[in-house]
Amino acid sequence: MTYVPQIHSALRAESLGATQQILADVQKPPAEDTHLELMLFALNVLNKHEIYTMKKIPWLLFLQLLPFIWMSCSETPSKHEENDAQELQRTDSIPGTNPCSGTNPMHLAGQFNPANDPEFQVISARFTPKTRIFLRKEALSAFEAMWNAARNDGIELIILSATRNWTYQRGIWNRKWNGLGYSEFEGKARAIEILKYSAMPGSSRHHWGTDIDLNAFENEWFENDPVGKALYAWLQANASQYGYHQVYGDTSNGRRGYREEKWHWSYLPLADPLLACYLSHPPSGAFEGFEGAQWSDSISIVESYVNGIDRP
Ligand SMILES: [Zn+2]
Repeated sequence: MTYVPQIHSALRAESLGATQQILADVQKPPAEDTHLELMLFALNVLNKHEIYTMKKIPWLLFLQLLPFIWMSCSETPSKHEENDAQELQRTDSIPGTNPCSGTNPMHLAGQFNPANDPEFQVISARFTPKTRIFLRKEALSAFEAMWNAARNDGIELIILSATRNWTYQRGIWNRKWNGLGYSEFEGKARAIEILKYSAMPGSSRHHWGTDIDLNAFENEWFENDPVGKALYAWLQANASQYGYHQVYGDTSNGRRGYREEKWHWSYLPLADPLLACYLSHPPSGAFEGFEGAQWSDSISIVESYVNGIDRP
């Protein structure tokens, strides 16, 4: 931030005796460092400390400062602009074969609010006891067709969980990390233990709005309860006609990642392209800001867990 010393030295030159507070303010630039915001930020700092008044500094000096501020802001593109440029280069390099074309990168790591996203729709109370949970529209209409067919066969499908954004997933993860259930494990071992059934924020298929959890979070219910057994048998026989698949089957075939989840079903017509995009362009910055995030690389979250699925 080259404009910081310029303001500082100008203030010193005018013997204004810049206070610690002014420096503290100047050294806290806005998060979104666009040119306009930097200009407004500089104006606000000067305004707050009444530096523009005739008592403190001549107007002319302030006006002379503005070009320096502007130039220093213009010297280097912002981090966002650099990232965008790199992204464009990468995604344009193989025309027609880019697996991320048409994908909103924010959706991959769950960095959005499905309540405000036009691609998502709230799930009707007919299908879930939860209020205001969401799915992508296409996945929801496929589920509705499946739900009707199951109902005609005497099976009641109930959605217990659907889209979960990054913030929600962080809540689940941090609760487990700090809970008594995992306190006997430390560091990486604790992360691996939680990963038996829960995803790290930024890596969950529930971010994508294509995956649902049905009826009970226990394999045992689907294996031994008469209602659960019938429901699971119905899903195995029929769900694929509606695009839904159990992606976390048992691991006897060598599948890596999460343990078996008989309740977790994925709408593959939308989830498969999202997975292809995720694997080719893993979302940057997704594995930061939660407990144990530093283990994500050494555990190979992307390769072992995001890609650790059964395919039809
Ligand atoms: Zn699930």
